[in-house]
Amino acid sequence: MPADPVLTFHDLESWSRPGTSLAVLGHPIKHSISPAMHNAALTELAGHDGRFADWKYVRFEIHPNDLPPALEHLHAKGFRGINLTVPHKIIAFDHVAEVDAATKPVGAVNTLLWTPGGWRGFNTDGYGLAAAVWETLQLDLAGADIVLLGAGGAARGAAVECLQRGCASLWIANRTRENLDALLRILMPLAGQIPMRGFTPTEVPTNLPPGALVINATSAGLRDTDPLPIALESLPQPRAVFDMIYNPPETPLLRHAAQLRIPTANGLSMLVHQGAKALEVWTGVSANLTAGTMAAAVRAAQGKRTGT
Ligand code: NDP
Repeated sequence: MPADPVLTFHDLESWSRPGTSLAVLGHPIKHSISPAMHNAALTELAGHDGRFADWKYVRFEIHPNDLPPALEHLHAKGFRGINLTVPHKIIAFDHVAEVDAATKPVGAVNTLLWTPGGWRGFNTDGYGLAAAVWETLQLDLAGADIVLLGAGGAARGAAVECLQRGCASLWIANRTRENLDALLRILMPLAGQIPMRGFTPTEVPTNLPPGALVINATSAGLRDTDPLPIALESLPQPRAVFDMIYNPPETPLLRHAAQLRIPTANGLSMLVHQGAKALEVWTGVSANLTAGTMAAAVRAAQGKRTGT
């Protein structure tokens, strides 16, 4: 059997493993590098602390229709923690016993912690974004003017994080006006005094401040043939471009930014930091202590994928 087999709902029904188990659920899940990342950190932790010697992180391919029973099985079988990826983050929000206060406005959970009364839900993506923007671009979301591209689940989490951290202003661009307006309505109560405005990428407001940090939270760029989510020349002197996508490592948007000599970063560091924060939720070990090992593991996994 491969080191990180893709397990199924059927495997879950018959699951029996001594030791502490963690899992990621997704559909599809076969490209996930989360098992490599978390198991590298767990091996490292076990070297210092015997408590973690029997911990293992596995992956399950779970169809969205099977998510509610899968979460029940995982709880009954005593899994310590769960990560959720596409398309489960929003669905799972309604199937947890309680949600961490900071996560409630996000409306989506990516990390679950076993408690006797049911799953407790968290979302570590916002933390991952803030930590990654700091690590890769040396920029703080607090006090920054932000142009956020997208109005889906990732954009909502990013917008909540930017507002909760006190960005200077938030400008959200999305292709479909209806989805943009729905997101703005959700965010309005959180914005308080922070100026927030939405626009479609072809109608950039003239009062947009220069030097904004551009964050791509659209899925445009997953394929090399995807259109640019925005023409960067239409923005006044963007300070940097952060793309949440990490595979491919260089999206058309990042290439476009590099041609304009704008500093760039892809989403690999975000993947690492959201993962390190999730591991902190399950183990109590600070994310700062495991992020380095996780980063090395994802770089190795990414290298295998691209043959570098
Ligand atoms: P959703 O499906 O919820 O949202 C997709 C968004 O992308 C929508 O705003 C949609 O706009 C927009 N979009 C899709 N195709 C295009 C296109 N061709 N041109 C312009 N806009 C487009 O996805 P998520 O929010 O869950 O994920 C978005 C991205 O973020 C994904 O690529 C995902 O991999 C990445 N991500 C990375 C993470 C990390 O750790 N690095 C964590 C979480 C997400 P419209 O409303 O017009 O349809």
